[in-house]
Amino acid sequence: MISKLVISDLPKSEFKGKRVFVRVDFNVPIKNGVISEDYRIRRAIPTIDFLIDCGAKVILASHLGRPRGRIIKDLSLQPVASRLSELLVKKVKFTGKTIGVDVKKDIDKLKNGEVMLLENLRFYKGEEQNDTEFAKELASLADIYVNDAFGTSHRAHASTYGMASYFKIKLAGFVVDRELKFLGALIENPERPYLVIVGGAKIKDKIHALKKLLDKADQVLIGGGVAYTFLKAKGVNIGKSFTEDEILDWAKDELKNYGHKILLPVDHVVAESFENRKTSIVVEGEIPDELHGFDIGPKTVAKYTSCIKGNGTIFWNGPMGVFEVDDFSAGTSHIARAVALATWRGANTVVGGGDSISALRKAEVLISEIKHVSTGGGASLEFLGGMELPGISILNDIKYDSERKVEK
Ligand code: AMP
Repeated sequence: MISKLVISDLPKSEFKGKRVFVRVDFNVPIKNGVISEDYRIRRAIPTIDFLIDCGAKVILASHLGRPRGRIIKDLSLQPVASRLSELLVKKVKFTGKTIGVDVKKDIDKLKNGEVMLLENLRFYKGEEQNDTEFAKELASLADIYVNDAFGTSHRAHASTYGMASYFKIKLAGFVVDRELKFLGALIENPERPYLVIVGGAKIKDKIHALKKLLDKADQVLIGGGVAYTFLKAKGVNIGKSFTEDEILDWAKDELKNYGHKILLPVDHVVAESFENRKTSIVVEGEIPDELHGFDIGPKTVAKYTSCIKGNGTIFWNGPMGVFEVDDFSAGTSHIARAVALATWRGANTVVGGGDSISALRKAEVLISEIKHVSTGGGASLEFLGGMELPGISILNDIKYDSERKVEK
């Protein structure tokens, strides 16, 4: 188990009056200055509350979107500062800048227990390039470093990796700690039976994770675009469905080794094209040459949901179809509801992946009906695939604090 020192492992007095830099993940959808979904902001509140309670000077930093080193007004974090002020019922200072003399002056004025949000880290090229000077500038703003942005921890950027090396105390926040606990348990000792449900479009991004999951799981249900590469590898005609031919050989090998655990769709919701979806019908078995598979069909739904039981562990990553479009969302919604029901019946349910929150929402499943909804898409898959996440490995190990006798 990866054990990192968490903020609550240190005495509260350690933070009093200290400038604490917290790398958070406030990459939320914003349109015309309005935040449509603030789950990631709400998730960060316990860490911020804790630090306020300790009397720290809390400096929050995040990226938003992909400005690629340019200042783009629509990608300012200003609306996040306002939303955060509402949630905390406390004024959050917004600098409008990320580094520099003015930011330092504003930090000097911070009183104990006050909170400040820096401007979008990715307005600077140095962030994604992990530029040393940019990392040093960020590090000069604080005394203690905290990473609570699990979703970007697989990237060695200046704020997730480079700057951390300048700190003696570099800790995990509560979001990161929870992710490590839930995802760590899936790697090491999942309660059995262990059911894995994989969907989404591309296997290539998921290959490492899928390999480990196939090995560890008792049963693997495959849907979405991923299923078509496996069906093609089996020799089933998939028509014009999405497929990744370059990994067909890999899929064939996995079917040879783990075929006894793998379930593939037996029917599909198909259409001539994405644009011409009014033609959508259900076909069983082979898909005619001129059609695309865009969702799992009702027989597959019945077969898959009968495997989703109320015990052991269930890990779900990726939609069963093009769920963003109503005509192709039924498969994903049925699976979402079955997973929620499994939680109520006692299963340990973990849902991950970038689309999972919108998929749950579309199915009218509450986030609280899932034991753990991972905030990290790529990060959770890399972690489950056994890869080292730079933003996690740079943090203090639990044994760092031997003189304070911190144990877990
Ligand atoms: P990923 O990022 O790989 O998890 O992929 C998520 C995307 O997969 C979603 O935007 C879905 O619309 C898409 N998707 C799911 N099923 C299919 C399918 N059968 N054909 C094409 N795209 C799909």
